[in-house]
This record gives sequence, structure tokens and C-alpha cells, in this order.
Amino acid sequence: MRFDVVTIFPAMVQQALSAGIVGRAIERKTLDVVVHDLRDFTTDRHRVVDDVPYGGGPGMVLKPEPLFRALDAIEAEDAARPTVLLTSPQGTMLTQAVVERLSRHPRLVLLCGRYEGVDERVRSRVDEEISIGDYVLSGGELPALVIIDAVARLVPGVVGDEQSVAEDSFGRGLLDFPHYTRPAEVTGSSGDVLRVPDVLLSGNHAEIRRWRKREALSRTLARRPDLLERAVLDDEEVKLLREVTAQEKHR
Ligand code: SAM
Repeated sequence: MRFDVVTIFPAMVQQALSAGIVGRAIERKTLDVVVHDLRDFTTDRHRVVDDVPYGGGPGMVLKPEPLFRALDAIEAEDAARPTVLLTSPQGTMLTQAVVERLSRHPRLVLLCGRYEGVDERVRSRVDEEISIGDYVLSGGELPALVIIDAVARLVPGVVGDEQSVAEDSFGRGLLDFPHYTRPAEVTGSSGDVLRVPDVLLSGNHAEIRRWRKREALSRTLARRPDLLERAVLDDEEVKLLREVTAQEKHR
């Protein structure tokens, strides 16, 4: 899968992409990420990408022509037109369902806004605007990185263990079960001993699987009951959810 990022801060994006799972996938060429400096698509000596807003008011706006030229160059690289995303607090909210939908596109272009945002006419070249939450950031670089990371995890071969991706929170509409590692006991801040649940040390795989399902369900019920309405549950999970719900009511 290929991503193109258009930004005025290419180093910021490249640096973040060099680490961890995404960095390794780029090295292995499982992912192709090309970061474009918007200033390379200016035509003036000072490489100006922004201008004052028509109508007055505070802040600057990213000019349309450098973004159009960047898109012309990116689109010219392949016969098939890529999907163009604009990072924007006004866009479709990024959820795991949206991530899954985006992961089915072979090529995504991410435009990073800055200042007051991009000139409205840029939207004529955009397929979808994506927001990463109801808050305003100073630029689209962090949202672009969030989108790349979340989408890349679903590209076959990026995460070593595909089962772990399937079990992640939201994978099947539930939050993930709790995870523990060695040692089996640690001392907490008040001197109390914090133990790993016995079932995880039992070696009984059927019991462990059942415990994990139960924990995922009770966590989802406690923290995000809204997810349960759309979750796809197997017969065992339906039964466990009934038990967990009944238990909650008696508390
Ligand atoms: N004036 C814009 C508005 O209120 O809609 C906000 C502009 S913001 C300061 C600058 C850029 O950061 C945006 O163009 C967008 O690219 C990015 N950005 C900020 N918050 C975002 C969010 N929640 N999701 C996605 N992109 C965001």
C-alpha cells in the first residue's frame, strides 16, 4: 500500500514514520510512504505557501496552487487515481470502521493543513475529509500520522501477528482484554502485592480463552456499552455477556 503525505513539515512526518512497526514495514517495502514538501510546489523565490484570508480576519490560509501542483505530480505517477484525504477537524470522524474502509484503497494521499486551514477550493480535489477527534490541532501532520499508523496495521504483513490485530480493541467491536507479562507478582505503590490472575498461570488454554472473552465483554460493558450494540458476538460471548450483565446489576 502506498501513502503520499503533503506537508510543510516533511522532517516531522519522516522522523515519526521511521520508528516501530511502520518504520520496519517501510524498510521491508511492505509499505511505501512518500513525504512531499509543499514548498517544492511553489514557483516564487521565497517558496510561499500561505496568504492572508480574503475578507480579513486573523491567521493565514494555505494557498490552493501549490496543493494543486502537488496533487498533479502525485496523480501523474500512476494511471489509477489515488484517494485524496484532507485532514480537517470538520471531517468524518476516524473510527476503526473508517480505518478498515480506508485500508481497502491501494493509494492514499494525505493533505496536511496548517494555520487557518487550506483554501476552500482545494476541497474540489479531495475525496474525503478526515478528523481524528473533536479538538483542534495546529496542523494536519499528527492526524496524517495517526491515519497512516491505524491503516497500516491492517495491511497484511505490517503487524507480525495478525491474530493480535484481530484481538485489538474495536477489532470485533469489543475492547481488548487486559494483558499481563512477567513477573507474576509486583509490589504496588502502597506496598500491596499485585498478582497476575491465576487463570493466566494455569496453562489451561480453554479457560484462558474464556476468561479473556469475559474480560473483553465486561470491560466493554463498563467503559463503552455503546459498542455492544454493533459488536459481532459468537454464542459463547452472548452467554458470557448475559452473565456479566446480570453480575453488574447485582453489584
Ligand atoms: N480553522 C480550522 C477549523 O476550525 O476548522 C482549523 C485549522 S487547524 C488550526 C490547522 C490544520 O490542522 C487543519 O487544516 C487540519 O489539517 C489540521 N487539524 C486540526 N485539528 C484536526 C483534527 N481534529 N483532525 C484532523 N485534522 C486536524
